[in-house]
Amino acid sequence: MRLVLVGPPGAGKGTQAQFLAAHFAIPKIATGDLFRAHVSQETDLGLEARKYMDAGDLVPDEVTIGMVEDRLRDDDVTEGFLLDGFPRTVHQAEVLDGMLAEQGAAIDVVLELVVDDEEVVRRLSGRRTCRRCGHVWHLDFDPPSSEGRCDRCDGELFQRDDDSEDTVRHRLEVYADQTSPLIGYYGDRGLLRGVDAAGPVEDVTERATNALRRFGV
Ligand code: ADP
Ligand code: AMP
Repeated sequence: MRLVLVGPPGAGKGTQAQFLAAHFAIPKIATGDLFRAHVSQETDLGLEARKYMDAGDLVPDEVTIGMVEDRLRDDDVTEGFLLDGFPRTVHQAEVLDGMLAEQGAAIDVVLELVVDDEEVVRRLSGRRTCRRCGHVWHLDFDPPSSEGRCDRCDGELFQRDDDSEDTVRHRLEVYADQTSPLIGYYGDRGLLRGVDAAGPVEDVTERATNALRRFGV
Protein backbone atom coordinates (compact mmCIF):
# COMPACT_ATOMS: atom_id res chain seq x y z
CA MET A 1 0.00 0.00 0.00
CA ARG A 2 1.22 3.50 -0.87
CA LEU A 3 -0.32 5.72 1.77
CA VAL A 4 -0.05 9.48 2.39
CA LEU A 5 -1.01 11.11 5.71
CA VAL A 6 -2.14 14.74 5.62
CA GLY A 7 -3.32 17.06 8.36
CA PRO A 8 -2.12 20.13 10.22
CA PRO A 9 0.98 20.07 12.40
CA GLY A 10 0.01 18.34 15.65
CA ALA A 11 -2.90 16.39 14.16
CA GLY A 12 -1.16 13.18 15.24
CA LYS A 13 0.37 12.09 11.92
CA GLY A 14 3.62 10.87 13.48
CA THR A 15 1.75 9.15 16.31
CA GLN A 16 -0.62 7.33 13.97
CA ALA A 17 2.18 6.65 11.45
CA GLN A 18 3.98 4.46 14.02
CA PHE A 19 0.90 2.22 14.39
CA LEU A 20 -0.15 2.22 10.75
CA ALA A 21 3.33 1.48 9.39
CA ALA A 22 3.59 -1.49 11.78
CA HIS A 23 0.03 -2.66 11.13
CA PHE A 24 0.37 -2.62 7.34
CA ALA A 25 4.09 -3.61 7.42
CA ILE A 26 5.24 -0.67 5.32
CA PRO A 27 8.17 1.70 5.92
CA LYS A 28 7.39 5.16 7.25
CA ILE A 29 8.98 8.11 5.46
CA ALA A 30 8.62 11.30 7.51
CA THR A 31 10.22 14.31 5.83
CA GLY A 32 10.33 16.26 9.12
CA ASP A 33 12.37 13.40 10.66
CA LEU A 34 14.66 13.28 7.60
CA PHE A 35 15.26 17.04 7.87
CA ARG A 36 15.89 16.84 11.63
CA ALA A 37 18.48 14.07 11.04
CA HIS A 38 20.24 16.35 8.52
CA VAL A 39 20.09 19.25 11.00
CA SER A 40 21.63 17.21 13.82
CA GLN A 41 24.37 15.89 11.50
CA GLU A 42 24.97 19.47 10.30
CA THR A 43 24.93 18.49 6.62
CA ASP A 44 24.66 21.25 3.98
CA LEU A 45 21.04 20.26 3.41
CA GLY A 46 20.40 20.44 7.17
CA LEU A 47 21.94 23.90 7.50
CA GLU A 48 19.79 25.13 4.62
CA ALA A 49 16.59 23.46 5.89
CA ARG A 50 17.01 24.68 9.46
CA LYS A 51 16.45 28.35 8.54
CA TYR A 52 12.98 27.51 7.28
CA MET A 53 12.09 24.95 9.96
CA ASP A 54 12.92 27.30 12.84
CA ALA A 55 10.67 29.95 11.32
CA GLY A 56 7.84 27.44 10.81
CA ASP A 57 8.03 27.84 7.03
CA LEU A 58 8.20 25.10 4.42
CA VAL A 59 11.64 24.12 3.19
CA PRO A 60 11.78 25.04 -0.53
CA ASP A 61 10.53 22.38 -2.94
CA GLU A 62 13.95 22.07 -4.70
CA VAL A 63 15.52 20.85 -1.45
CA THR A 64 12.61 18.73 -0.24
CA ILE A 65 11.81 16.96 -3.47
CA GLY A 66 15.42 15.86 -4.08
CA MET A 67 15.59 14.36 -0.59
CA VAL A 68 12.34 12.41 -1.10
CA GLU A 69 13.39 11.25 -4.58
CA ASP A 70 16.55 9.74 -3.05
CA ARG A 71 14.56 7.96 -0.34
CA LEU A 72 12.02 6.56 -2.82
CA ARG A 73 14.86 4.93 -4.77
CA ASP A 74 15.67 2.66 -1.80
CA ASP A 75 14.81 -1.03 -2.14
CA ASP A 76 12.61 -1.23 0.95
CA VAL A 77 9.92 1.05 -0.50
CA THR A 78 9.27 -0.67 -3.83
CA GLU A 79 6.19 -2.54 -2.51
CA GLY A 80 4.70 0.29 -0.46
CA PHE A 81 5.29 3.07 2.05
CA LEU A 82 3.63 5.56 4.35
CA LEU A 83 4.48 9.22 3.71
CA ASP A 84 4.15 11.52 6.75
CA GLY A 85 4.61 15.23 6.03
CA PHE A 86 5.09 14.89 2.28
CA PRO A 87 3.63 16.16 0.01
CA ARG A 88 2.94 19.53 1.60
CA THR A 89 2.28 21.53 -1.58
CA VAL A 90 0.34 20.73 -4.75
CA HIS A 91 3.62 20.99 -6.67
CA GLN A 92 5.17 18.31 -4.43
CA ALA A 93 2.09 16.11 -5.02
CA GLU A 94 2.38 16.50 -8.78
CA VAL A 95 6.09 15.62 -8.70
CA LEU A 96 5.36 12.60 -6.48
CA ASP A 97 2.71 11.36 -8.92
CA GLY A 98 5.25 11.74 -11.74
CA MET A 99 7.99 9.87 -9.84
CA LEU A 100 5.65 6.97 -9.08
CA ALA A 101 4.24 6.87 -12.62
CA GLU A 102 7.78 6.32 -13.93
CA GLN A 103 7.85 3.14 -11.81
CA GLY A 104 4.34 2.14 -12.97
CA ALA A 105 3.01 2.91 -9.48
CA ALA A 106 0.61 5.39 -7.85
CA ILE A 107 -0.66 6.56 -4.46
CA ASP A 108 -3.45 4.22 -3.28
CA VAL A 109 -5.01 6.33 -0.56
CA VAL A 110 -4.59 9.63 1.31
CA LEU A 111 -5.72 9.76 4.93
CA GLU A 112 -6.61 13.19 6.28
CA LEU A 113 -6.46 13.61 10.07
CA VAL A 114 -9.03 16.28 10.95
CA VAL A 115 -8.57 18.28 14.16
CA ASP A 116 -9.20 21.91 15.17
CA ASP A 117 -6.54 24.61 15.72
CA GLU A 118 -6.89 24.90 19.51
CA GLU A 119 -6.36 21.16 19.92
CA VAL A 120 -3.25 21.45 17.72
CA VAL A 121 -1.81 24.15 19.99
CA ARG A 122 -2.53 22.00 23.09
CA ARG A 123 -0.93 18.96 21.50
CA LEU A 124 2.19 20.71 20.25
CA SER A 125 2.89 22.68 23.42
CA GLY A 126 3.11 19.40 25.38
CA ARG A 127 4.94 17.37 22.73
CA ARG A 128 8.24 15.83 23.79
CA THR A 129 10.36 13.66 21.47
CA CYS A 130 13.04 11.12 22.36
CA ARG A 131 16.47 12.03 21.01
CA ARG A 132 17.49 8.37 20.87
CA CYS A 133 14.51 6.34 19.57
CA GLY A 134 12.33 9.16 18.18
CA HIS A 135 9.25 8.14 20.19
CA VAL A 136 6.76 11.00 20.61
CA TRP A 137 5.21 11.65 24.06
CA HIS A 138 2.80 14.25 25.40
CA LEU A 139 3.17 15.72 28.90
CA ASP A 140 -0.59 15.52 29.58
CA PHE A 141 -2.08 13.08 27.06
CA ASP A 142 0.63 10.39 27.00
CA PRO A 143 3.09 11.32 29.75
CA PRO A 144 6.46 9.67 30.27
CA SER A 145 6.99 8.69 33.92
CA SER A 146 9.73 11.29 34.26
CA GLU A 147 9.50 14.55 32.29
CA GLY A 148 12.93 14.42 30.63
CA ARG A 149 13.40 10.66 29.97
CA CYS A 150 11.95 8.19 27.49
CA ASP A 151 10.30 5.17 29.15
CA ARG A 152 11.05 3.04 26.11
CA CYS A 153 14.83 3.51 25.81
CA ASP A 154 15.86 5.90 28.61
CA GLY A 155 16.89 8.47 25.96
CA GLU A 156 16.68 12.21 26.59
CA LEU A 157 13.38 13.93 25.72
CA PHE A 158 13.46 17.31 24.00
CA GLN A 159 10.95 19.95 22.94
CA ARG A 160 11.13 20.90 19.27
CA ASP A 161 12.27 24.49 18.58
CA ASP A 162 9.28 25.00 16.26
CA ASP A 163 6.69 24.01 18.90
CA SER A 164 6.53 27.42 20.61
CA GLU A 165 3.01 28.87 20.48
CA ASP A 166 3.88 31.71 18.02
CA THR A 167 5.64 29.35 15.62
CA VAL A 168 2.78 26.84 15.87
CA ARG A 169 0.26 29.55 14.93
CA HIS A 170 2.44 30.49 11.94
CA ARG A 171 2.70 26.80 10.91
CA LEU A 172 -1.09 26.60 11.00
CA GLU A 173 -1.27 29.56 8.56
CA VAL A 174 1.29 27.89 6.32
CA TYR A 175 -0.81 24.71 6.42
CA ALA A 176 -3.98 26.61 5.48
CA ASP A 177 -2.28 28.51 2.62
CA GLN A 178 0.10 25.99 1.12
CA THR A 179 -0.86 22.47 2.24
CA SER A 180 -4.66 22.41 2.54
CA PRO A 181 -5.09 22.69 -1.28
CA LEU A 182 -3.93 19.05 -1.29
CA ILE A 183 -7.34 18.10 0.12
CA GLY A 184 -8.97 19.21 -3.13
CA TYR A 185 -6.16 17.73 -5.24
CA TYR A 186 -6.57 14.25 -3.76
CA GLY A 187 -10.34 14.60 -3.31
CA ASP A 188 -10.74 15.23 -7.05
CA ARG A 189 -8.81 12.01 -7.72
CA GLY A 190 -11.05 9.98 -5.37
CA LEU A 191 -8.12 9.12 -3.08
CA LEU A 192 -9.05 11.06 0.07
CA ARG A 193 -10.39 9.46 3.27
CA GLY A 194 -11.07 11.84 6.19
CA VAL A 195 -10.80 10.68 9.79
CA ASP A 196 -11.82 12.55 12.95
CA ALA A 197 -8.50 12.86 14.82
CA ALA A 198 -9.95 14.21 18.10
CA GLY A 199 -10.11 11.95 21.15
CA PRO A 200 -7.79 9.25 22.47
CA VAL A 201 -4.93 7.95 20.31
CA GLU A 202 -6.36 4.38 20.25
CA ASP A 203 -9.75 5.63 19.00
CA VAL A 204 -8.09 7.55 16.17
CA THR A 205 -6.00 4.47 15.28
CA GLU A 206 -9.16 2.36 15.12
CA ARG A 207 -10.92 4.88 12.85
CA ALA A 208 -7.81 5.10 10.66
CA THR A 209 -7.33 1.33 10.29
CA ASN A 210 -11.05 0.95 9.50
CA ALA A 211 -10.82 3.65 6.81
CA LEU A 212 -7.81 1.86 5.28
CA ARG A 213 -9.05 -1.71 5.64
CA ARG A 214 -9.75 -2.34 1.98
CA PHE A 215 -6.33 -1.05 0.86
CA GLY A 216 -4.07 -3.10 3.13
CA VAL A 217 -3.62 -6.63 4.34
P1 ADP B 1 2.12 15.53 13.84
O1 ADP B 1 3.06 14.43 13.40
O2 ADP B 1 0.83 15.54 13.05
O3 ADP B 1 2.76 16.89 13.90
P2 ADP B 1 2.30 14.21 16.46
O4 ADP B 1 1.97 12.78 16.12
O5 ADP B 1 3.73 14.52 16.73
O6 ADP B 1 1.68 15.21 15.34
O7 ADP B 1 1.38 14.61 17.72
C1 ADP B 1 1.53 15.88 18.34
C2 ADP B 1 1.44 15.72 19.87
O8 ADP B 1 0.10 15.34 20.22
C3 ADP B 1 2.36 14.64 20.46
O9 ADP B 1 2.86 15.07 21.72
C4 ADP B 1 1.44 13.43 20.63
O10 ADP B 1 1.85 12.62 21.73
C5 ADP B 1 0.09 14.09 20.92
N1 ADP B 1 -1.06 13.35 20.36
C6 ADP B 1 -1.12 12.67 19.19
N2 ADP B 1 -2.35 12.13 19.01
C7 ADP B 1 -3.08 12.50 20.10
C8 ADP B 1 -4.43 12.26 20.51
N3 ADP B 1 -5.28 11.54 19.77
N4 ADP B 1 -4.83 12.81 21.68
C9 ADP B 1 -3.97 13.54 22.45
N5 ADP B 1 -2.69 13.79 22.12
C10 ADP B 1 -2.25 13.27 20.96
P1 AMP C 1 7.08 18.00 10.67
O1 AMP C 1 8.00 17.16 11.50
O2 AMP C 1 6.34 17.20 9.63
O3 AMP C 1 6.17 18.86 11.52
O4 AMP C 1 8.01 19.00 9.82
C1 AMP C 1 8.85 19.94 10.48
C2 AMP C 1 9.31 21.00 9.50
O5 AMP C 1 10.09 20.39 8.44
C3 AMP C 1 8.20 21.76 8.76
O6 AMP C 1 7.66 22.83 9.53
C4 AMP C 1 8.96 22.25 7.52
O7 AMP C 1 9.81 23.35 7.83
C5 AMP C 1 9.85 21.05 7.21
N1 AMP C 1 9.18 20.10 6.29
C6 AMP C 1 8.80 18.83 6.55
N2 AMP C 1 8.24 18.25 5.47
C7 AMP C 1 8.25 19.20 4.49
C8 AMP C 1 7.78 19.25 3.15
N3 AMP C 1 7.17 18.19 2.57
N4 AMP C 1 7.96 20.40 2.44
C9 AMP C 1 8.57 21.46 2.99
N5 AMP C 1 9.01 21.50 4.26
C10 AMP C 1 8.85 20.39 5.02
